[in-house]
Amino acid sequence: MSQEVSPIRYWNIEQCTIPVGRVTIIAGFCKGGEDCDDCIRLCPEKVLERSTVSNERGYLPPVVVAEGKCTVCGRCQLYCSENAIFVHKVGERAVHAHEIALTAK
Ligand code: SF4
Ligand code: SF4
Repeated sequence: MSQEVSPIRYWNIEQCTIPVGRVTIIAGFCKGGEDCDDCIRLCPEKVLERSTVSNERGYLPPVVVAEGKCTVCGRCQLYCSENAIFVHKVGERAVHAHEIALTAK
């Protein structure tokens, strides 16, 4: 019987890179605050927080609080029903060993 082996055994962490994104928020489109916050909740990297300043319609849009942590996963953009948030890749960075859960023995 063959034993399944995690591909992580074959990774060279020093050669791994991860995308770095820039987040663009169109505050005037946002319906954030108690009624939404989907982008804030769904961001796995905790890049966003709710602003304390409301937009012209009285909603509280997200603000970027962790510039450089965005991995361009796209969840914020995908789940925003108001087309108020966009991401694009601006570069890549090395993956640090502490960012990977090493489970293979
Ligand atoms: S998902 Fe869209 S509408 Fe909701 S808080 Fe984020 S930017 Fe605003
Ligand atoms: S693309 Fe992903 S990591 Fe970047 S801000 Fe949106 S949800 Fe967070």
